[in-house]
Amino acid sequence: MSLQFDANLNCNVCGNSFDAKLYKTIWGEIPENRRLVMSDQINVVTCPHCGNSSHVASSLFYTNSKQEFAVWYEPFHDPMIDSDTEGYKKFGGPNCYFATAPRIKDWEDFKDTIRKFEDGEFKGGRPNLSSVLKGILSNFKK
Ligand SMILES: [Zn+2]
Repeated sequence: MSLQFDANLNCNVCGNSFDAKLYKTIWGEIPENRRLVMSDQINVVTCPHCGNSSHVASSLFYTNSKQEFAVWYEPFHDPMIDSDTEGYKKFGGPNCYFATAPRIKDWEDFKDTIRKFEDGEFKGGRPNLSSVLKGILSNFKK
């Protein structure tokens, strides 16, 4: 599911502080979601005080389960991605596309990388079924 979280932001024009919902994960196989990313409208917030809108540089996980690939937008090093990746390796295996998703710092490169996966230039890895089962079993043992 596409996931959103609440963030408290400061307007870089008037300094007003306000709350906004940002996407953490976006499901790219849904055309509307893909459009939000490709048209630079995702994680764009508008200050309620002065009306200035800006793109928030916040980590974003783009996944496409139909074409089996995923890409991170990671403008600043985000330790959360390290721990998420470890979790995906456990459940999907080290070659699963969730675990091997490239981490891209630049927004335009991020969109380019998505297009390369869509065109088949880059390939995501399939989840390894036996390690999925191992992950489920080890969870039961706890
Ligand atoms: Zn403002």
